[in-house]
Amino acid sequence: MSLTRRIAVLPGDGIGPEVTREAIRVLEAVAAARGLHFELQWRNVGGAAVAESGEPLPKATLDLCLASDAVFMGAVGLSATDRVKPEQRPERALLILRRELQTYANLRPVRHTPALDDATPLRPEIAAGTDFMIVRELAGGLYYGQPRGISGDPGSRRAVDTLEYGEAEIERVVRFAFEIAKTRRGHLTSVDKANVLQTSVLWREVVDRLAPEYPDVRVEHLYVDNCAMRLVTRPSSFDVIVTENTFGDILSDEGSVLTGSLGMLPSASIGKGVALYEPVHGSAPDIAGRGIANPIASVLTVGMMLRYSFGLHEEADAIDQAVERVLARGLRTADLARRGTASVSTVAMGDAILAELELVLAGTATTAGERVAR
Ligand code: NAD
Repeated sequence: MSLTRRIAVLPGDGIGPEVTREAIRVLEAVAAARGLHFELQWRNVGGAAVAESGEPLPKATLDLCLASDAVFMGAVGLSATDRVKPEQRPERALLILRRELQTYANLRPVRHTPALDDATPLRPEIAAGTDFMIVRELAGGLYYGQPRGISGDPGSRRAVDTLEYGEAEIERVVRFAFEIAKTRRGHLTSVDKANVLQTSVLWREVVDRLAPEYPDVRVEHLYVDNCAMRLVTRPSSFDVIVTENTFGDILSDEGSVLTGSLGMLPSASIGKGVALYEPVHGSAPDIAGRGIANPIASVLTVGMMLRYSFGLHEEADAIDQAVERVLARGLRTADLARRGTASVSTVAMGDAILAELELVLAGTATTAGERVAR
């Protein structure tokens, strides 16, 4: 490969380093099979960085991330019994990174695997065919609006939060969702509460204004309450869902349980500059250090990085396929295994995915070097 891509790798705390190790083995296998070159810069972040330097995200690490082509993270977070000053909370690293990288769209793919029928809370016939992407607006809305705060005397205090969106903020994330829908099944569901909220009225107007530019994408508007119901009654009816920050936070967690385990869910946060890739789960202090964490979310996150930062769709598909094959063969980490059935370690799951990946890649041999795009 002619181009080198620089990736900042931040394994973090708890199970973060355990799952990141497996994910990076997968990345290196793709690189070796396709003649790609990734320059990996490993740095501590979160609690691990506090222990090293007193800060969850040292400036030098942030600068490295800003100068990279992508940032790949494990997880940050201490256990509930650990006490630290607010400015040393490991999660601050994540918030600073999202802000400094100017990410505005959070992507979470939700796909049901028939092999995991017994792990999803839905009946198999309802879960069957579920394969959608949630695009959540990440930089605005209720979580950032001003004014906010609690005022007044005890007993008669009042609290205020502000929900505000500008047209440009809506347009950039909705365009992003349209572009993704174009590459999938061409169906975009925009979720709002336009029967009550003015921000939703504006959101809907922007979606309708952009729709003619994407004639191959069928647009549907859905109220958020209706969407919450349809996610568990007809999840296979969705392709791409786009929505504002708060609705997206709640709906993406609801969507995430459909796959059966938090250990299965990758995510990407995309913005103006460098994108941030991380599994959805946290540092799982309850199982950290035992070698039993599920590395699949982190492995699938590598696939998202290849797809969205480097344009390597075939290699990303190969990773997805390798994971499907391993699950179809019956391999399960503890979080996926039925009570009383055997489970494999984090490393054994990584080994199995690598073995399948080699077979899949051998069957789709093209020169990836020329297809690397930004
Ligand atoms: P968590 O996601 O760490 O764990 C929730 C439950 O899911 C636990 O029982 C855990 O064992 C299990 N789990 C999570 N990932 C798993 C995996 N890959 N394989 C098997 N089981 C898995 O959430 P939590 O317990 O609420 O938070 C723990 C810490 O992580 C907290 O400090 C929290 O702030 C932090 N956190 C960080 C992130 C992040 O880095 N993006 C996200 C969420 C929580």
